[in-house]
Amino acid sequence: MEIKKLETLPEKIIIPLRQHRGVVCEPLVKKGDRVLIGQKIGESEEYYSSAVHSSVCGEVLSIEEYPHPDGNKAMSIIIKPEDSNDTVVFSPYENIRSGQLADFIKESGIVEHYGMPTHTVLRPKGKNIDTVLINATSSEWIGGTFKTPKEYASQVIDALKLLMKAADAKKGAIVLRTDDKDSIAAFEGIEVDNKRLKVAPLVGSRKMGYYLNEQNSDIVVLSQERIFGKKILNFFTYNVTGRKVDIGCDPTDVGVAICGIKSAKALYDAVHEGRPFYDTVVSIEGVSDRMEYLLVKIGTPFKDVIDHYGFTGEIGKIIANGVRTGVAQYTDQVPVTKGTTRISLQRPEEVLTDDSIECIHCARCVDVCPVELIPSRLAVMADQGRFDECRQIHIENCIECGDCAAVCPSKIHILQLIRYAKDAIEMAYEDLPAKESSNLKLGCACGGE
Ligand code: SF4
Ligand code: SF4
Repeated sequence: MEIKKLETLPEKIIIPLRQHRGVVCEPLVKKGDRVLIGQKIGESEEYYSSAVHSSVCGEVLSIEEYPHPDGNKAMSIIIKPEDSNDTVVFSPYENIRSGQLADFIKESGIVEHYGMPTHTVLRPKGKNIDTVLINATSSEWIGGTFKTPKEYASQVIDALKLLMKAADAKKGAIVLRTDDKDSIAAFEGIEVDNKRLKVAPLVGSRKMGYYLNEQNSDIVVLSQERIFGKKILNFFTYNVTGRKVDIGCDPTDVGVAICGIKSAKALYDAVHEGRPFYDTVVSIEGVSDRMEYLLVKIGTPFKDVIDHYGFTGEIGKIIANGVRTGVAQYTDQVPVTKGTTRISLQRPEEVLTDDSIECIHCARCVDVCPVELIPSRLAVMADQGRFDECRQIHIENCIECGDCAAVCPSKIHILQLIRYAKDAIEMAYEDLPAKESSNLKLGCACGGE
């Protein structure tokens, strides 16, 4: 997979001070300041936060509210880039101790694509992590550059060891996608602790623990089918480790930290080069089947990425982070953030405008649901505001993959209705303790590896 670099400097770079869940950063610069590439320009002393850095050398034009790709606005630092590569001096931290790594990760601005600051996933307050997983099932999340696939595989293994060290975890796994033959070949071509790696498929009851024992190792590389969805963490945890996560809890409650391939690579770069997280790989699609992978400076407006990609004619819709579950944008001036993975473009005639009709009870949505829900019933109950009943049939288990809506011949907006109900439930029940689930795949009981 070729990753091109977006070299052209945009007219302005917009760096939101909110690029993760938790506490928003405070600006460390003011209008008129000159900043360097890699300079820290925002931070918070609170634990649940992560620093932000400038991706260019230039002058701070303003600090103001600006459209954010999550659909809201965020306080952002607007920088006019200079044609200069003036960079802060980066020093590698090769011998960093385990206890210092979490602070280092926070300082380097490393966050997960699902919104959490990485150090809070590895060292959640009041919990112990014994297992770290790198979810590499979406190859477009690969960050940074590498010369050969083998180099990439070695870097990800190294990153996993760093993540395990940061979490004080004894076990770790990298999970690839079963059909990602290039990555599987790359990992099978390297050695870890003088042993040739073997990528093992997750099938049936053979989970991570089985392969750790079989390979007599602390680290394994596994493969599974790709799972779409924004809320896949609990499902992914069960699929890989066999540990079931209670509703209302997250993988860290059962001792598992899940990191993405981007944050893993960002940590590798931070430790070995001393560079913080200020650029990221974004895939862009929209012309025929042409998908491009671009290394983009964080803060680059979508418009500049689209111009580089070469989309001609009228754009009907711009979607951030995938057409199934992403967010449609109302302006092309939103910036690429640490959480941006994909930009999808649609022509006006491609934009779905079908009005829903009544459910014809075909049960296609039930057949495709990966967590064995009844999406048609959830949609009806959500639409009628029957949120208690939504809870009773385990709406919280929905991983928001969008498969049900994609197959529905009646074009019912099932996913939107489910999200609407989940938001309403979260607001109404936020003080209630985690609820047990009778759902077969995600039910209670920790452990079980
Ligand atoms: S209800 Fe729909 S969106 Fe939710 S997990 Fe099932 S198929 Fe995916
Ligand atoms: S796929 Fe659509 S039409 Fe078919 S049962 Fe589900 S909601 Fe109804």
